[in-house]
Amino acid sequence: MDGLIFDIKRYAIHDGPGIRTTVFMKGCPLRCRWCHNPESQHYQPEAMEQKRKLGERTFTENHTVGYRISTDDLMREIRKDDVFFEESGGGVTFSGGEPLLQADFLLECLRRCKAEGIHTCVDTAGAVSTPLLDDICQYTDIFLFDVKTAEEQVFKTYIGASYSTVIDNLQRIAANGSHIVARIPVIPHVNDSEDDINKIIALLADIPQVREVNLLPFHRTGADKYKRLGRNWEMGDTPNLTKDDLQSMQQQFTDAGFVVKV
Ligand code: SF4
Repeated sequence: MDGLIFDIKRYAIHDGPGIRTTVFMKGCPLRCRWCHNPESQHYQPEAMEQKRKLGERTFTENHTVGYRISTDDLMREIRKDDVFFEESGGGVTFSGGEPLLQADFLLECLRRCKAEGIHTCVDTAGAVSTPLLDDICQYTDIFLFDVKTAEEQVFKTYIGASYSTVIDNLQRIAANGSHIVARIPVIPHVNDSEDDINKIIALLADIPQVREVNLLPFHRTGADKYKRLGRNWEMGDTPNLTKDDLQSMQQQFTDAGFVVKV
């Protein structure tokens, strides 16, 4: 079996516990306006402009983002980092894009990792319905589940696709008893008011599997990629947020009984 990925990042320290190898799977049904990996969205290889320096001169050329890889080859890549996993309590994280879009490939990779004793995380926005979700839960140690808003209208305006699918998947993963960490990208004027956060807290309060929250401040690092892909960056000149900007919402989550990391 093979799947479509666009990157493998080694020594990642923000994608779950310990030192991790993060596999970025290509394809996502959502279109979050702030997405900092727009090259992950289309479910096909695509051209992205790249600048290269040769002496004093700078050249622009296209390179292809996305390639197919077999589970055998991917496992070979993952195993190279075994020693780091063992020493740090790390493992592999499947991210994207949306890993659930390639549910059969994801499930096969997870099975193979668990058979070799490798810790697994799935970083998902929960945006795809799949009959394989219960099986995926069996082989996933931690879900890093994006919770972008608790309001359907906000979801429709800024993110697209189906809000109810996301909520159904969140509840189904919880019903499987899986460990879930909620990841909240904090976006100015989208989900950063006290009221926005209270609504997210009310949503998560009903899900006992979620006791840890990661707050991810908005940043503009992906803006340049949109130009390189020939697309529009729709966040205009929205400024970066800093950790300090998130202090009051961090306190809201703490007061509500969540463990919060920023
Ligand atoms: S869910 Fe993630 S990968 Fe998909 S568009 Fe949103 S930010 Fe990008």
